[in-house]
Amino acid sequence: MLGLMQSQQLLISSLIEFAERHHGEGEIVSRRVEGDIHRYTYKDMAVRSRKVANALEQMDLAFSDRVATLAWNGYRHLELYFGVSGSGRVLHTLNPRLHPDQIVWIANHAEDQVLCFDMSFLPIVKAVHSRCTTIKHFIALCDADQLPADTGIPGLQSYEAWLGAQSSTYAWPSFDENSASSMCYTSGTTGNPKAALYSHRSTMLHALAGALPDALSMSARDCVLPVVPMFHVNAWGLPYSAAMTGAKLVFPGPAMDGKSIFELIETEKVSFAAGVPTVWQMMLGHMQAGGLRFSTLKRTVIGGSACPPAMITAFNDVYGVEVLHAWGMTEMSPLGTVCTLKNKHLTLDSAEKMKVRLKQGRGVFGVDMKIIDDEGKELPWDGKSYGDLLVKGPWVISEYFKGEGSAPLVNGWFPTGDVATIDPDGYMQITDRSKDVIKSGGEWISSIDVENIAMAHPAVAMAACIGMKHPKWDERPIIAVVKKPGAEVTRDELVAFYDGKTAKWQIPDDVVFVEAIPLGGTGKMQKTKLREMLKDYQLPTV
Ligand code: AMP
Repeated sequence: MLGLMQSQQLLISSLIEFAERHHGEGEIVSRRVEGDIHRYTYKDMAVRSRKVANALEQMDLAFSDRVATLAWNGYRHLELYFGVSGSGRVLHTLNPRLHPDQIVWIANHAEDQVLCFDMSFLPIVKAVHSRCTTIKHFIALCDADQLPADTGIPGLQSYEAWLGAQSSTYAWPSFDENSASSMCYTSGTTGNPKAALYSHRSTMLHALAGALPDALSMSARDCVLPVVPMFHVNAWGLPYSAAMTGAKLVFPGPAMDGKSIFELIETEKVSFAAGVPTVWQMMLGHMQAGGLRFSTLKRTVIGGSACPPAMITAFNDVYGVEVLHAWGMTEMSPLGTVCTLKNKHLTLDSAEKMKVRLKQGRGVFGVDMKIIDDEGKELPWDGKSYGDLLVKGPWVISEYFKGEGSAPLVNGWFPTGDVATIDPDGYMQITDRSKDVIKSGGEWISSIDVENIAMAHPAVAMAACIGMKHPKWDERPIIAVVKKPGAEVTRDELVAFYDGKTAKWQIPDDVVFVEAIPLGGTGKMQKTKLREMLKDYQLPTV
């Protein structure tokens, strides 16, 4: 017997309709590429998203055709999020930090029909447009009078002129909730990039789960600053959860430096911010240098790579801001776990609480996790056994776009490529990417643990641990370190800093000081590049 409830499709357009009706006056504030601050409301955004949809109809795009963006976090990008997906097309967020050749490859692979880009990316578009063979329309996200002449880009028009001619009336179509809504290519550290193709259903369920109190806890009383880019996994779903809850949205545009982010948090009274550790590192550096304090920020979600304990301490103990350590992947829309405490943790002393906060957290409802050994046997949730982490759920990938790469699922589970433990309370902790873990004398050393200790040293700005071939132990860890400007520390001082903080055999054999650690397009350390950089390095013979 079937239930007798209405079977309304879960569609992204319902978010914008809901936002307009229930919190139409809610504010959306953007620092623009032009440098100024732009303010409007959810109602304005809904009106302009309908204009986007009408403009796309006039371009004669088919259902599921791809509309690409090369854009920072801002209101025009948000209008495309809703206008493109809501009208049944697929929003393809291109990552402007990739090499132009990669952008060409990805745009052609996705068969993008339209490209909307911020003016800061005009040089990239000039360099790639003739090689993007499927793109028929180029739209610059600017006013008509800012469109430069003679760009050489065929048919280039300004976004404002494109929208200006459109009606603000549009009836959002209804269709199967499993239809594709947006796509994002993975960083592609090996082989060609592969695309995760999200659906309306997966996006809506993810937005609902992301807004829950023990996930990102979003409400109409929040003012949210997504520093995480809208070109990386839909800014962790924050634009959708914000429209669902009525949270005020603040977008940083291209100004991602510590000073600009801090200023925006203060002037807009941000209560909740989200970003990768490298962004917060810059902002904390700016605050420490100027003796600054937050007046409204209460929570920050940090993910994308492991959050060093020193950062959690700085936010919690120095600035009174709660850190929510979170873990996810492009293939998971991206939310997998969030580290919110349970009642039993509230009475722990701060050292014990820190041990919990350092973990990547508990599975958000909807995401199942398990860890397995090399033979595929499931390992216990004892907080000690570590193995390959597998996940499944309604917003986890089933296969890559166009079936690229090997079929990703193992008996219905997606292998994340991360190595993790899970404790009896369900808190998952990543020890490594499976390819980065260091195997020394038959034991595994977590490169993240080694990095976290170095990052706690006051002279260290960034640290990356990699394994080096060793004749006796198979591999031994070394640590590449970028010093803070003006700070000094020697190799021996840093090695001595590990004493008492970890087992002796887990202390790195050497420290290599470098100018910079190579970062990928989403701000993650690229250890393959670092290994290449240090290919002539020899371990000290002691
Ligand atoms: P991406 O798909 O580019 O977002 O990368 C996903 C990968 O980033 C994961 O598989 C992890 O290896 C890593 N990652 C994400 N969040 C965290 C975290 N909080 N701690 C450690 N690694 C993380």
